Amino acid sequence: MSEKFIPIKIVPTASFSNGGIRHWPVPDQLLPSIGNLRDQRHRSLHDLRISVTDRCNFRCTYCMPKEVFTKDYPYLSHAELLSFEEITRLTKIFVAHGVRKIRLTGGEPLLRKNIEDLVAMLAAIRTPDGEALDLTLTTNGSLLRKKALSLRAAGLKRLTVSLDALDDSIFKSMNDVDFPVDDVLDGLHAAREAGFERIKINMVVKKGVNEHEIIPMVNYFKNTPHILRFIEFMDVGDSNAWQAQDVLKTDDILALLAQAGFPLQPLPPQQAGETAQRFQHQDGSAELGFISSVSHAFCRDCNRARLSTQGMLYTCLFASEGHDLREHLRSSASTSNIDAIVSNIIRNIWEARDDRYSELRDIERQSTQRKKIEMSYIGG
Ligand code: SAM
Ligand code: SF4
Ligand code: SF4
Repeated sequence: MSEKFIPIKIVPTASFSNGGIRHWPVPDQLLPSIGNLRDQRHRSLHDLRISVTDRCNFRCTYCMPKEVFTKDYPYLSHAELLSFEEITRLTKIFVAHGVRKIRLTGGEPLLRKNIEDLVAMLAAIRTPDGEALDLTLTTNGSLLRKKALSLRAAGLKRLTVSLDALDDSIFKSMNDVDFPVDDVLDGLHAAREAGFERIKINMVVKKGVNEHEIIPMVNYFKNTPHILRFIEFMDVGDSNAWQAQDVLKTDDILALLAQAGFPLQPLPPQQAGETAQRFQHQDGSAELGFISSVSHAFCRDCNRARLSTQGMLYTCLFASEGHDLREHLRSSASTSNIDAIVSNIIRNIWEARDDRYSELRDIERQSTQRKKIEMSYIGG
């Protein structure tokens, strides 16, 4: 049946205004979903990160520097965004292919109108074994006081909140929109009250900018159920003026903590493909995580795919090209045919995947031709 209505077309990469767009050739044979896909490096497909907006109310200097992300920046129009129905439909296909964990991200996901409705739709999805998905969301926390209860009620299980400093002036200089740290901390309290027990706190560490906030942050989150995670400043996208010398490496942070009298002990990974190395205070008072994308690449187990706000599929955070799934969702084929086509495309893309940017960073960075997709578009 497939030859009859599935054209084979290869359109060259067209534009980089929202990242390169690759129109993946539609295969002429439909293959069934089998779960347990393996890429070229035998990595499975387990996590899907879904960006629900490319907009944000912060201008973090390492992510959306305000010199680049001005009001004239070509943000996506509403019609270009995947609708909640389209996201849910794609998610179901990904689940058939083995995805078990969904992270909603952006831009700032809580800016997407009625995001709770999407959470409820995703929370209703079941795996072939009848299990609910591990559904989580990453936010800058600015709207948590307003949204925490409704997100929880909609079925959101876990939350990650980004927080780079406790010192108000440092925090404001990093978010670059004068947003006060107390409002994020208040959002965290609201999330606790709403029933989010163990919240992950993401702290991007930039040398010379917020490294003096490491110890205050460790002290603040010690004796809480939350998990403070240090993230090495990464060269995502092309606008954050990344330089290797601005990265404070995990080993340096560990040394700093040892010096400050915080002995840590390593914890075993909870599942394959985890981004963070886990530790806990020796007295068991809190867990800490280290995401060392620059100093200890973890491509070997990377089981994450990313769906952009407009329905492009990316198989690496540092990708230049995505694969357009939306054009198929919006095609005139019948519903079941669309599902089969998209399912087939996802399988082909994952099976062809060979990404390992972090392992090859030094070589990759020598290519000045290659444009990388921005973090706010692809989702962190
Ligand atoms: N706006 C939400 C937030 O900030 O939590 C979600 C999207 S944000 C892109 C996701 C995560 O990526 C955040 O924890 C953020 O700190 C991190 N991030 C952004 N740019 C980064 C960079 N250049 N290096 C390391 N982490 C970065
Ligand atoms: Fe916005 Fe998050 Fe990027 Fe900061 S890290 S600019 S909060 S998307
Ligand atoms: Fe995965 Fe790409 Fe990051 Fe490697 S660089 S861990 S392949 S997202």
